[in-house]
Amino acid sequence: MDQANKPSAIKPPPQHNRVLQEITGPLVFQCLKCRLIVGDSFAFVTADRELNSVVLYAKPHNIRVGTDLLWSREGIDIGSTYIMIYCNGCNSTLGKVWRTTPRKLDYIRDLYTLNLDCVMIYQLGDFIDPNSAPSDIHTLPSSKMQQISINKLKDMILILNERITALENTLNKRVNTTSNDSTVFSSTEDNNACIVIPRGAQDKSIETHPNHRILG
Ligand SMILES: [Zn+2]
Repeated sequence: MDQANKPSAIKPPPQHNRVLQEITGPLVFQCLKCRLIVGDSFAFVTADRELNSVVLYAKPHNIRVGTDLLWSREGIDIGSTYIMIYCNGCNSTLGKVWRTTPRKLDYIRDLYTLNLDCVMIYQLGDFIDPNSAPSDIHTLPSSKMQQISINKLKDMILILNERITALENTLNKRVNTTSNDSTVFSSTEDNNACIVIPRGAQDKSIETHPNHRILG
């Protein structure tokens, strides 16, 4: 068969690209051949660079654990025994469940180890540009409610500001028309506050802060 006519084999991305990519969200593992979801990082235990595998503690629904106990004769797990894991969709090999291990691999024993050369990895939210934001935040109900609350606060501040300004004007008039003797007024025009203006009421500090003399 001509080389150009051979069906292109499915190859996973180079391992170094996967390692360098920063992980910011949950991961979904899919069968490389049929794209069936065969696990996710909510069951994540660890990833092992030497084994080129990710280890899950729970058995995903879409995998099948074989029955034959095999014996490793080479590699990092030499001397171990394991059972193969297969994809329920296409029956492809996905990884192993080690039954006996050397001491340094004890942490993966009886767990579900997916070989990264047999699965695709999809990170949830990977399509979202982290710098993007909704163009109109007011389309969100919570934002509308926040805007209504802000408008109410603005109105309240304006009303209070008007009342304070009126009070200040009234007090300034009183101070300017009072003699040096202490004078007690029973009330202001706007409320029942009692005003006491002591001797030296023309003092600059009193003119500047007339509300310091409001009692009641
Ligand atoms: Zn499959």
